[in-house]
Amino acid sequence: INQLREKQEYDKTIRLLMIVLVVGFAIIILLFFRSWRFRGKANQLLSSNNKHIQEQHHELNKLNLVLKNQSEIDSLTQLNNRRYLSSFVNDYCHDTKNLGQHWILILIDIDFFKNVNDQYGHPTGDIILKEFADNLNKVKAEDDILVRWGGEEFLWLVKCDEINKAQTYCKLLHDRLNNFEFDKKNNGLKITCSMGFYPFQLTHINLIDWEFALKVADTALYQAKNSGRDKWIGYQPSIPLNIKDLEININTLIAVSYTHLTLPTI
Ligand code: GH3
Ligand code: MG
Ligand code: MG
Repeated sequence: INQLREKQEYDKTIRLLMIVLVVGFAIIILLFFRSWRFRGKANQLLSSNNKHIQEQHHELNKLNLVLKNQSEIDSLTQLNNRRYLSSFVNDYCHDTKNLGQHWILILIDIDFFKNVNDQYGHPTGDIILKEFADNLNKVKAEDDILVRWGGEEFLWLVKCDEINKAQTYCKLLHDRLNNFEFDKKNNGLKITCSMGFYPFQLTHINLIDWEFALKVADTALYQAKNSGRDKWIGYQPSIPLNIKDLEININTLIAVSYTHLTLPTI
């Protein structure tokens, strides 16, 4: 009887152990399944969130581009503005692949524009500025850069291989203006401009060439104004430039190293 009782006890313990094992195993399986499902859902949520963030990122990039373009365009003339030029020049002058490229820089200033405002009013002045910009757009080539430099001043950057053509471009604009009637509906005005040009080559990866070109073109424009307006004056290198001299004394160099190309008065 005792042996039978021990066997029954033993069987009971074994059965209990088996039940505990089965229940424990079932719980583990259940937990594993739940965590697997949870992980699946979390991944789904994460990827849909990622997609959403990517879409928003894309929209933001598009919006930034629109804002950047708007901030670089002059609202009156619809030409690019000075901010655009700064960023273009900065990128361009620091890119080695642009080394050696020839440009002609032309600074343009409308003659006696204050008189137009005084005589016909500011709104007419605005119309003329817009029409002037449209005329500039008609003469420029696709690769050229055209910028409202400020007020009634414009900057035209001609990309070219033939630097001797600078005067041809100035004449192109001059002839166009000569044949154009401004504010035709109301006053029918004739408008002239003065131009200072400088053909230059990008020789260094920094802004030295550009800053120098600006100074020379500005000097030339000043001379065109002082010698009667409605004309173009430019400078052309007469000897190869030494970049070290440029850094030392830019003003002396303009005087000694450049040939003054004054054209006959038009
Ligand atoms: P100069 O031949 O020496 O260049 O004479 P100017 O009268 O053209 O030059 P000045 O610098 O004396 O006058 C420029 C005028 O341009 C004065 C300013 O009121 C006018 N101006 C600048 N920006 C605008 C604008 O956006 N709209 C209008 N209507 N006038 C402007
Ligand atoms: Mg001016
Ligand atoms: Mg002017």
